[in-house]
Amino acid sequence: MDQLTPMMRQYLNVHEKVKDAILFFRLGDFYEMFFDDAITASRELEITLTGRECGLEEKAPMCGVPYHSAEGYIAKLIEKGYKVAICEQVEDPKEAKGIVKRDVVRVISPGTVNDGNYLKDRSNNYLMSIYYNMVDFGLAYMDISTGEFYVTELNGHENKYRILDEIAKISPSEILINTVLFKDKVLHETMANKFSMFTNVLPNKYFDLENSKEIISRSVGVYSVNSLGLTDRQHGLRAAGALLEYIDQTQMRTLSHIDRINWYEVDSYMSLDYATRSNLELVKTIRGGDKKGSLLGILDKTQTSMGGRKLKKWLSEPLTDPNMINKRLEAVESIYEDVSIKDRLKIALGSIYDLKRIVGKLSFGNCNSRDMTALKDSIFLIPDIKNILESAKSGYLSELRMEIDDLQDLGELIEKSINPDGPATLKEGNLIKYGYDKNVDYYRNISGNSKDMILRIEAEEKEKTGIKSLKIKYNKVFGYYIEVTRTNLHLVPERFVRKQTLANCERYFTEELKDLETKILEADEKLVELEYEIFQDVRQEIIRNINRIKKTADFISVIDVLYSFSQAAYENGYVKPSVAESDEIIIFDGRHPVVESMMDSNDFVPNSCEIDCRNNRMILITGPNMAGKSTYIRQVALITLMAQVGSFVPAKQAKIGVVDRIFTRVGASDDLASGHSTFMVEMSEVSNILKNATKNSLVILDEIGRGTSTFDGLSIAWAVAEHLAESTKVGCKTLFATHYHELTELEEMMDGVRNYCIKVQEREEGVIFLRKIVPGSADKSYGIEVAKLAGLPQGVIQRANELLLVMEEKEVRIKRSKKIQEAVSEDKDRLNLFNYKDKLVIEELETLPIEEMTPIEAMNYLNALKKRLTSE
Ligand code: ADP
Ligand code: MG
Repeated sequence: MDQLTPMMRQYLNVHEKVKDAILFFRLGDFYEMFFDDAITASRELEITLTGRECGLEEKAPMCGVPYHSAEGYIAKLIEKGYKVAICEQVEDPKEAKGIVKRDVVRVISPGTVNDGNYLKDRSNNYLMSIYYNMVDFGLAYMDISTGEFYVTELNGHENKYRILDEIAKISPSEILINTVLFKDKVLHETMANKFSMFTNVLPNKYFDLENSKEIISRSVGVYSVNSLGLTDRQHGLRAAGALLEYIDQTQMRTLSHIDRINWYEVDSYMSLDYATRSNLELVKTIRGGDKKGSLLGILDKTQTSMGGRKLKKWLSEPLTDPNMINKRLEAVESIYEDVSIKDRLKIALGSIYDLKRIVGKLSFGNCNSRDMTALKDSIFLIPDIKNILESAKSGYLSELRMEIDDLQDLGELIEKSINPDGPATLKEGNLIKYGYDKNVDYYRNISGNSKDMILRIEAEEKEKTGIKSLKIKYNKVFGYYIEVTRTNLHLVPERFVRKQTLANCERYFTEELKDLETKILEADEKLVELEYEIFQDVRQEIIRNINRIKKTADFISVIDVLYSFSQAAYENGYVKPSVAESDEIIIFDGRHPVVESMMDSNDFVPNSCEIDCRNNRMILITGPNMAGKSTYIRQVALITLMAQVGSFVPAKQAKIGVVDRIFTRVGASDDLASGHSTFMVEMSEVSNILKNATKNSLVILDEIGRGTSTFDGLSIAWAVAEHLAESTKVGCKTLFATHYHELTELEEMMDGVRNYCIKVQEREEGVIFLRKIVPGSADKSYGIEVAKLAGLPQGVIQRANELLLVMEEKEVRIKRSKKIQEAVSEDKDRLNLFNYKDKLVIEELETLPIEEMTPIEAMNYLNALKKRLTSE
């Protein structure tokens, strides 16, 4: 350390405070990085690695980026999963003794970014914090760019894995956890594997209850947390406290736009686990992760970015209270029914800027006059929106209209003070309007008049010297000067003092010009300073009113989502569902919102659905591949979900009894897109359903049991179906698409199971998919016909048909169904698919020491087993 240069020593000392970040160390016009940081950054940013003398024998590796274009580089590093710490000079170099003091002024990580380079307009960027004490969870999350702040708790062992559902819903870009959670290896690793996000393990002091209470009341501006009514919510408070403490530590400034705590109960929303969100493609597709092709892609007609974010949030947390849902539905209906309201809303909303993010920028202190102007322009549209809503016949919309604060005082303040065409920076002047401040006007006049005077001097000097091409010019280094070309030098009078010599001209000044220059520069300097101050005053005044703006912004984003639902309903022909507390879901001529959008109109074949917790608990759908089974069961789930979000639905009519959860599972081999399509994953997900589904849940099972051998798979599918349909066990509403034809036997054996199939028509030239769902079970699987449609060579198809005939003759199928029937008559209650020989095998399997076998031994064993079972 001793040999190091003083600057390097300073660098290392500063870095010590932010060990896990890449340090951007400000030197002149550059941010420099050294040592390992330099090596990493030069690789990730593709910038040149150089070296710098540091007092040691070898040069320190170094790379750097210009400070004015640093934002893009920082965004790139954050995107790649690094933290960046910004280190600036923190004292005036003129006053520094020795080396100028430098310190970290901000740490930027994925969850604390606040500039447009990294943030997506239509997605929130959440930082999340979780407190865990081995039984209960406290959870808090915030979008720093908008100040939205939510807190909840999940208490009790039984809720342990629901924390994963919450994370899936919120999809944070960064998460803070305590050491207890970190030490729970299973939970922590599941989190890490499922969600790609930046994780920080914070020391316990961050989660300290007293500290948390203190920082919460300070940040949200209340005297004590008791006034928030959350005194006995200590897990939530701890999580919230840690989050605020982390922001304090990394942002090093007071943020004035942080919401009061929005406390919510996890049970007020429909619970959807990670797999279900992904299978139903709610906000992004499974394959590309794109919004296009997802439900959000279809429903998003929002006109503002904040509306876009609100819609995404609503889709991620459908409601369960019919009253709240109907409030939304009625509002959508009143916009839908009045085209004039709808069209006028579109225009008014379309010109409103992202007020929430503007307010975030204001609070961070990085806003300019354009942001102010955008704020003002948006504020002036609010009365229009209120007017438009006046004629709407919805209680909710009237409520919103009454509550919206139109903020006209703030709009007027900006209107009179801020120059709408000001520059992007705050240090060039030209920010404040003429007439707002006397002093600004005074200095501006000096500088304006003086510029006229320059022109006058120029004209006079031309006249006096007779040099026609004489010009008075200005540059930053030399200030004002008179320029005379070489050919006219002999005309230059004595009074001209030489300032600079160039190849083809000389530059001079005169006493008069110099005096004027001083006056102009002084006035300019004063003006810039003064304008900056006044701008900050206006900003402060706006910040004092930040909560009013945020509230209005939130109402507007709600109105935008309601508009979006109406517009989507209008464009796509949706209807208002009737939503109530009941166990029925009745859909007449329903459609899949995404699949239908990819077809020509009218090509999609609508299908109805009737399901309840009584006689139609389980709908078993059989039919060949490509018949439309998967589409159908998803469409029922999506229509239910859309209704509970408050959207109209793609159907002729729909009656939706609210469900508490939707589960969907896709059989392993159907789930290739997810990348980890192992049978094990499928089974653990099925197990999750069986443990967590309630009578009020809706379960969608698609080809469960496909990832293993036929009999295994069939047995599992069978047992799962029984468990779900059995009213003393789960008894929930289930839609089960399967290619296991044998399962259709269940209809005979259990209450509430109904067989359906999707019709196909056999023709000379092959099968035609009619896509119509009808009661009954498919009589054959049409595999060969589908293969033919898919273009398998004629010879192969022919051969397959021959083989099929042979096999059918051998009565393979008949035998199998006979076996079932025998078993049924033997033991009606507990269907036994297995004969005596199979039973022996099962017993053997139960005692098999799998843990002690190598994979090869296991394979050999399985092989032997298979041989034994298939031998006659
Ligand atoms: P399965 O699950 O039975 O194999 P899918 O549900 O995957 O069949 O449907 C296969 C294809 O059939 C879909 O990609 C879609 O293009 C089309 N399809 C499905 N349902 C319908 C329908 N109701 N109307 C028109 N086309 C449909
Ligand atoms: Mg399918």
